[in-house]
Amino acid sequence: MINPINRTIDNWRITINDNGITGRNHININKNKLNHLKNDRTCKIVGCTNLIRINRTSGLCDNHQLHEHDLCLELHNPAGNLVNAPAHKDIVDALIEWSSSRNFGLLPFFSNLSFNTLGNVPDVSTLAGKVTHIGITLPTLDIAYDSLIQVINNFFPINNNSSFQPLVTSKGEIPAIVLAYTFAGLLICEEANRGDRWFCRMVIKEESKTTQLGAAMPIAYFAARIFPWGVEMNKSARNLTL
Ligand SMILES: [Zn+2]
Repeated sequence: MINPINRTIDNWRITINDNGITGRNHININKNKLNHLKNDRTCKIVGCTNLIRINRTSGLCDNHQLHEHDLCLELHNPAGNLVNAPAHKDIVDALIEWSSSRNFGLLPFFSNLSFNTLGNVPDVSTLAGKVTHIGITLPTLDIAYDSLIQVINNFFPINNNSSFQPLVTSKGEIPAIVLAYTFAGLLICEEANRGDRWFCRMVIKEESKTTQLGAAMPIAYFAARIFPWGVEMNKSARNLTL
């Protein structure tokens, strides 16, 4: 299993856990082409010796089509109770409303989150050691999350009261900075569960081969909300992303 990571902010705790096979384990969901060279007949899962057709680019035998790992975010309130974390759309909505009242543009914040997430988080099979890539050093989840926390600290200064303003969400009132931490954690989960950018950038060394959105999907909702459509789009923008 992938080691869980915890971060606390304003007495709220954000945890990223590996739900293993009890998570949403879809067929080769990040579409990594582990046998992209089409030069190997052995399943790429560590310890598996099953043979595959040489042109099966996934590199996975029939027994290993399903991912065995799924990162999931948990949020505990200051009382220590597990609460339902708001979905990324609720967080984006709350932050946009918070920022517009203080004329504080969020675009640089989300751009920085994007730059620091996309392609910087390996897929769950790699993070769990189920597949290995010779000669490539893995960034840990801690490093990935802390780089996003640095971005958050720049835009939500710890010494500014407004960073801690409670914002209304469908899951109750949650401080703005806690919502930012939660959103960043959701980005890490999406990129690891569904992204192939790290694999394409670091292993294939051709980022343009990337086919999956990963963490770009939650960020796309923010992009849809702030695009100058010329018409009222607030609620219908929710239909633009999964
Ligand atoms: Zn196998």
